[in-house]
Amino acid sequence: MSFSDDTTPSFDAMGLPQALLQAVADAGYEIPTPIQERMIPPMLAGRDVIGQAQTGTGKTAAFALPLLARLELGQRPEPQLLVLTPTRELALQVAESFTAYGRHQKGLEVLAIFGGQDYASQLRRLQRGVQVVIGTPGRVMDHMRRGTLKTETIHSLVLDEADEMLKMGFLDDVSWILEQLPNRRQTALFSATMPDSIRAIASTYLKEAVSVTIGSKTVSAQTVNQRCLITNGLAAKQSALEKLLEAEPCDGVLVFVRTKLQTVELAEHLVALGHAAAALNGDIQQSQRLRTVEQLKAKKIDILVATDVAARGLDVERISHVINYDIPFDTESYIHRIGRTGRAGRSGEAILFVSGRERHLLRAIEQATRQKITMAELPTVATINERRIALFKERITRALTADTSVFEKLVGEYLRENEVSGEKLAAALAAMAQGERPLLLAEPDPLPASARLRPVASHSSRPSRTRHAETQLPPEQGMERFRIELGSEHGIKPGNIVGAIANEADINSRHIGRIAIYDTYSTVDLPYGMPEHILRLLHKSRVGSRTLRLQRCGEEASQQQPHRAAPRPPAAARKGGATAGRRKAAGGQRLQ
Ligand code: AMP
Repeated sequence: MSFSDDTTPSFDAMGLPQALLQAVADAGYEIPTPIQERMIPPMLAGRDVIGQAQTGTGKTAAFALPLLARLELGQRPEPQLLVLTPTRELALQVAESFTAYGRHQKGLEVLAIFGGQDYASQLRRLQRGVQVVIGTPGRVMDHMRRGTLKTETIHSLVLDEADEMLKMGFLDDVSWILEQLPNRRQTALFSATMPDSIRAIASTYLKEAVSVTIGSKTVSAQTVNQRCLITNGLAAKQSALEKLLEAEPCDGVLVFVRTKLQTVELAEHLVALGHAAAALNGDIQQSQRLRTVEQLKAKKIDILVATDVAARGLDVERISHVINYDIPFDTESYIHRIGRTGRAGRSGEAILFVSGRERHLLRAIEQATRQKITMAELPTVATINERRIALFKERITRALTADTSVFEKLVGEYLRENEVSGEKLAAALAAMAQGERPLLLAEPDPLPASARLRPVASHSSRPSRTRHAETQLPPEQGMERFRIELGSEHGIKPGNIVGAIANEADINSRHIGRIAIYDTYSTVDLPYGMPEHILRLLHKSRVGSRTLRLQRCGEEASQQQPHRAAPRPPAAARKGGATAGRRKAAGGQRLQ
């Protein structure tokens, strides 16, 4: 098999400065995504561009990398680059990306400005000086009108998710902002769809723009059964993978992730759980990669965790499952991935993990593969336990065929010396063999007592849910409730909790469920199956000088405080709903 060839695109060949190449390497990106490959060179050359791409294609790096390369750093920071986004959440995400990609660029200052955040802190940052401003049109316009955001020095503008801005009624604001900016500037417009109004903006405000739309091939994937699982957040993905690997009748499994680092981390995690797994990525020497593939063929390894590049051309008949742990950047990659199973006339299973936000990408894949993708359910605890019991019995049957004469003698002796039944003795031996890991999974906890107390305020990061629950509802499906030993008496606000958890656990705030704040403690709902090491981290995390001491509800029963609080209006809930302006998913678009 060949892993890469001369046509493999690379970041190195694009002319990006070393500081950015280093950041790309830090992020573990192996090769540019198709939109990056096509967009970065013209943007580096200062051209205007129109990119038909949406979230999940790597579009943020497609504009952030070349525009960061074109910044002049060093003097007093003046705004040079403005990015307009439809929502504050996207503004924050884009700002995070700019900060991450620009981490080796000395003197870089990035600021996100959006409605709902107080002006004072935005003003202070603007006065201190920033080169990159990312904001929602309304707030950007306010700052421009007040003269607090100077535009004379802005030489680059990005309209991100232009069609979403249009849908949200920002067309006039965007046009107004475009009119105020210096004429000599570079403009990049990104949109998932290209309705006439977006084309009109492009033809009015962009000059000789390079247009990038990446078409997708279609193939039929008849020997592959495609399923999809909704998994919100890293913890949910990890737990879904663990459950699938237990419950699905798998032979060889190929798990696709986006970065080299993830291949290693996930493979190590699976090995720690007792799976025969290995990583396959572009940093691993060709000879070692070939050895790993041989081990998969020889059944010494059952699971490979790979990047797209590393799995190129992989042809192993026993791959029964392809798990798209991370959704691919384009339909072509998806087709290549699932083509690694269902080989040599066998049938194969392709399972795709998508977050609620990525759901709209499914239609593109269905079109490209001319096949329906069915929504799958996560295996239940009962199914997994049934399988564990069956495997346990199989192990006994296998052990009975081996030579057990030494143990028979010892067991006989033990039975004569102790008053214990053969059944009890066998059970004790089984427990010894099982070790510390419980044989069976516990059913999820029912609603804990603490959650039935009345909260003083309730918060949900999801606008679709009630934001003023005076009584605490049980966690939504797929969520678990945790207790934090900080309450209103400690001045805790929902936003503090969201911030602490999102930062520490690296989970998107949208996956943090209901928060209820009581006098002396709070509760927060998190996706079911959060890894224990993350929970340990969260236990020790701080808000200011105080420790969260987060733990599962029910585990803290002995420390329960009597309830004293009367319900208050949901002020904290409104404040805390910082992610309320979520993006609407644009339906039925192509993946590219
Ligand atoms: P976006 O479409 O900009 O929302 O990016 C989607 C995800 O892809 C983000 O998590 C990025 O960190 C990741 N990403 C962007 N470019 C690459 C790349 N070349 N290789 C691997 N991951 C990437």
